[in-house]
Amino acid sequence: MIRKKLLYYLIIIMILLSINPVYAEDSQVDFSKIFDNHGLIRLIIDAETGSIRYANKAAIDFYGYPKEKLLKMSIQDINTLDLIQIKKEMEAAFREERNYFVFKHRLANGEIRNVEVHSYPVLEEGKETLYSVVIDITERVLLEQSLERSRRISKYLFLGIFTLFFFLIAVLFLSKEKYKKLANYDSLTGAYSRLFLDKLIEHEKNKSNSNEVILLVVVIDIDKFKSINDNFGHIVGDKVLKKVVEVLKSYIRKDDFVIRYGGDEFLLILQNCDKESSHTIINRVKEKLKNNKEFEFPIEFSYGIQEIYDTQEIYNSIKLADEKMYQSKTGKNLSY
Ligand code: GH3
Ligand code: MG
Repeated sequence: MIRKKLLYYLIIIMILLSINPVYAEDSQVDFSKIFDNHGLIRLIIDAETGSIRYANKAAIDFYGYPKEKLLKMSIQDINTLDLIQIKKEMEAAFREERNYFVFKHRLANGEIRNVEVHSYPVLEEGKETLYSVVIDITERVLLEQSLERSRRISKYLFLGIFTLFFFLIAVLFLSKEKYKKLANYDSLTGAYSRLFLDKLIEHEKNKSNSNEVILLVVVIDIDKFKSINDNFGHIVGDKVLKKVVEVLKSYIRKDDFVIRYGGDEFLLILQNCDKESSHTIINRVKEKLKNNKEFEFPIEFSYGIQEIYDTQEIYNSIKLADEKMYQSKTGKNLSY
């Protein structure tokens, strides 16, 4: 029985021994063949001198040199960067924690390609060699560059459109403001315009106090203005209109308004002013214009004053002041 068992083990051992040599033979992988035929560009470089000790078929195809020539070259003949640039790239790789370098390699036909070089040091026969895998990234770099270019163009385009849009809005706003301002003023005299009066009335519309005078309106009309135009010319007439406004402005307070109501007719809207004070102001203006030294003639005008208790009644008050002015002009002064 024991013998039978021994024989059985012996047979198994023999079978295993007979299989083992075959298995060992098959496991001898030909690395040089794999290296040579591998699709990736592979170089073995002397770490000390940079000379190319071995290049696979893909490397020979890529660089375009005959194998014998390539094996006589050093990596410096291929790398277009000088030592300083190479050092910089190595520092950048270290900084960015990359295990590869980005270089520019020159091919036999003079073409420059961007490559990623993955290098691993291997000790071979006591010599340090660099086992390098080279990946051509030229197309990728070109694509990235063109993407960056289009990104930059769209950024500038966007900025340009935004600036133009902003500029147009600003111009539109400013011109609107300008026209608004123009509409508020009489261009000849600089007094407020009739349009402004309408806006003012609209703005003050809800102010009313039946017991208190909230505003005073004074209608002023230059006497015999037509004859000034006829005798001294239209330009002198214009200057007279400007002078009247200038003097009126210099006698009223900043809360009051001088409005050109018609050709030679003006309105004063006075705030916080009693009737007596308004007469005083107007008479000072009268004196000033009568005794002016600018013209060969005295400038004279007639006026009428009306209190305003309710802003809704402003137009009516203007009408009443106008009637008083007219009566004053014709010598039928009933108000003062
Ligand atoms: P009265 O004493 O009754 O007020 O008579 P007047 O001559 O002052 O008034 P009238 O209404 O007869 O004439 C006003 C004139 O003002 C007629 C018009 O040609 C002139 N006029 C209106 N606007 C202007 C202007 O902007 N510039 C000049 N120079 N004249 C103007
Ligand atoms: Mg007049």
